[in-house]
Amino acid sequence: KNSDIINQTAKPIRILYLIRTAAHFYRVRLIYLLQTWISLVKDDVFFTSDLLLPNISETRMILTKETCGSEAHSMNILCCKTAHDFIIYHRYLSKYDWFCHFDDDQYVNVNKLEEYLSTLDSNQPYYVGRASWSDTIKRSKEPFPYPFWFATLGAGVCLSKHSISLLEPYTQSVSAFIDGCINENYHDDIYLGFLLNGYLNISLTQNSHFHSHLEKSFYHDKQTFLRTFKNEITFGFSRPDRYPHFLPQLYQSNLDPYRIRTLHCLLNTQLKECERKIQQ
Ligand code: UDP
Ligand code: MN
Repeated sequence: KNSDIINQTAKPIRILYLIRTAAHFYRVRLIYLLQTWISLVKDDVFFTSDLLLPNISETRMILTKETCGSEAHSMNILCCKTAHDFIIYHRYLSKYDWFCHFDDDQYVNVNKLEEYLSTLDSNQPYYVGRASWSDTIKRSKEPFPYPFWFATLGAGVCLSKHSISLLEPYTQSVSAFIDGCINENYHDDIYLGFLLNGYLNISLTQNSHFHSHLEKSFYHDKQTFLRTFKNEITFGFSRPDRYPHFLPQLYQSNLDPYRIRTLHCLLNTQLKECERKIQQ
């Protein structure tokens, strides 16, 4: 019996990684993810995108152009794209313990993510991420007239398989999700927080090791950054001053404009390509 317990706890958890992207971001963002963290977990990575992407199999993608229309950073379109995340999640519900959404301007430290999620029970309802604001969303309307915390999708959000199955009635149709966003006048991540808090009584488990590029202070103090970056779970990039610019430059800047490849090597020194870079 003892050995049963040991075997159970040693079983690796399975995480599905869903990346929201668009064809026009392929060369400027996605390519850096493909060269780095995605290569470590590629069998478990799926995408939502308006159009097909180079070198990515159609079976790993949900195409959104027909349903969501042309690309724009608007509330409706991003709600529409996020609604498509759930097509993938429901499809693979039996295979994965955790479902995490990331934007295409995020580096994910997959080992730290796995280490952290392993401490939580995926059979319990979890909603994990970084609180978007320093305070709750104020709300006084029915059906849930209470303030709640929500996590910004741009720092990464993870849901346990139990939460995904509880969400099914609200996420099984793309149009119902979009109508919900519009009715409540919430962006996709706020609406998701509303569904979880308001209908399912699942509150946010905050993790301050998730970071988006919206966070001003994260890249501002060199000493703190260099001391702590190996413990962080996600990193945002894509803005001129919001990327790990304190790191030494291991690649020519045209090959690694956001130092994402550098970050990847410093976090995964055992990789062949990285061993070479670090010795140089
Ligand atoms: N996005 C998209 N279509 C668009 C604009 C943005 O799918 O027309 C996606 C983008 O790929 C990213 C996310 O939405 O994953 C957030 O976009 P972005 O990082 O440009 O904006 P911000 O983080 O400032 O909200
Ligand atoms: Mn972004």
